Order: sequence, then C-alpha cells, then structure tokens
Amino acid sequence: MKKANLKPKHYRGRFAPSPSGELHFGSLLAAMASYADARSQDGQWLLRIDDIDQARIIKDSDKHIIESLEQCGFQWDEKISYQSDSIENYNKALEQLIKIDLSYPCSCSRAQIKMLSENGVYPGTCRDRGIEHNIDNSATNYAIRIKVPSETIIFKDKIQHLCRQNLAQEVGDFIIFRRDKVFSYQLSVVVDDYLSQITHIVRGFDLIDSTARQIYIQQQLGYPLPLYAHIPLAVTDKQIKLSKLSQAKKIDSEIPTLVLAAQFLGQEVGMDKDYDNIADFWQHLCQIWDIDKVPKKEKIETLN
Ligand SMILES: [Zn+2]
Repeated sequence: MKKANLKPKHYRGRFAPSPSGELHFGSLLAAMASYADARSQDGQWLLRIDDIDQARIIKDSDKHIIESLEQCGFQWDEKISYQSDSIENYNKALEQLIKIDLSYPCSCSRAQIKMLSENGVYPGTCRDRGIEHNIDNSATNYAIRIKVPSETIIFKDKIQHLCRQNLAQEVGDFIIFRRDKVFSYQLSVVVDDYLSQITHIVRGFDLIDSTARQIYIQQQLGYPLPLYAHIPLAVTDKQIKLSKLSQAKKIDSEIPTLVLAAQFLGQEVGMDKDYDNIADFWQHLCQIWDIDKVPKKEKIETLN
C-alpha cells in the first residue's frame, strides 16, 4: 500500500531576531532552518522583531536585519511584527497569572540571591512574604516571579534528544516581569507565539534551556504547545558563539554563504556554482530539506 504523504494541517513557523546587531552567520542559520522547515511542509513563515529589551537594541539594526533577509531571498507571510507593539498583550497574560495566584512580587537583589543560593536557583524567599502586586506604580522596586512546582517537564526536541527539566530544582520560581519594568523574554515569547498561532519553533541551541520554562507558562495560560527543534550554534575555533562576537560579521547575500549555511545544517545542497540565482537555491533547499540531517549537536565550529 502506498504511504499517504501526511502533512500537518497547518504549519506556522517564525524567525524572531532581536535587533541587537547585524544578521550574522549564526542568526542566518536559525532563519534558514526555520524557513526551510516551514516551506518544505507548505507552511507559513513569519518575521518578528524581538525588541522588548530596549537596553540591548542597536539603533536601526532591525532595518539592517530585514534588508539582509531580503537580500538573502527570504519571503515572509504577513506584516512584520514588533514585540514593542505587544505590551498590552503581555500585561493581560501577567494579570491572568496574578489572578490564578501563580505569581508574586520579589524584592531580592541579585547579590541577596547569590548569598542564598550557590547554584543560582531562586530559593523562593519572597513566595510567602505577601508583598502586594502593584504593577502600575512606577515607584515599585520589585520583579514578579512565577511559582513552579517540583515536576519534571519533558519534551521531545525534533533535532536533539528527549529533554527534561525540573524547574523547581534547576531554575526555581523565575522572573516574568523584571525589576526594570520589562516583561521577561520567557513570557513575551510565549504570548507572541500563541497570538501568532505558531505551531513550530526552530531556533538556536542556546534557547533549549528556556524551553521548559516556556512550556510551563503555556500550560498555565492554557495555550497549545508548539513543537520545538534546536539547531547547533555556530562557534569560532575559540568556542565563542558567533552572535556574541562584537566583530560578528554581517553576512553577505551571495549564494556561497547560503550554501555554506545549508551545509552546516547537514543538507546536501551541492556547490554554489550549481545555482543560477538565489530563488533557485531556495527552491532546491526546500525540496531536499530534511530536519533529521541537522547535526544533533550543541555547537559546531565555523572557519570565520
Ligand atoms: Zn525575592
């Protein structure tokens, strides 16, 4: 009997760079993997600029990233979204978590937490201190944490392995609203992915450690859980993550860079001279894309 070609009912993927520098080889890999995985399954692919942490933003780098993506031939569905436009949505999610008594204010300083806990796990000091929520008051000087139970969260990463994390033992009650009045990465990403109906998240290995926390928030807010896949990070021969390098070079739009990126992701794309133009490259990559061929590694050295 011929096997039916089963495809998910709908696939919505995304790439969500923070505008803290140029699009470099490391971020190109995440963009490429998420894009090829979506397009190879007739899925949609969205672009979101994660600009909630204003302190990290480098002016105009959102424009530069978008330009580089365009030059590389990426095509996104729907309008580009910005996290800074979504604050009201994060507020609503936070209110929901406060309402179900799952969050509490914490006035501990970093130094205090360091003294209380050697491994960085927050010991729940403020859980029962009864500090009242007052998020509208700009004078308040506390963060808001979410309570976590001592349960192990298990998820199957599409590329890596079966992942498990006990949040109580390995993280502790974690921050969802920072002392400097910024919603945490964990909360904002979960809310945006939910509102954009993202079904598949393909991103760098550095975020695998955040996944259990994000799944926990999804569960508490009653959101459907997306599928996760974490690609290896590109590091230099000195093991420095590319995006952390101040000299992380802006990628050029030439086909050789795209071919190199696809090879890094384990795809048999041949050589750059096989392609007449960028559209030709993408068409081929999306045809042959096989996520099972992406190396099951945390990081891979690159030459530059
Ligand atoms: Zn505290």
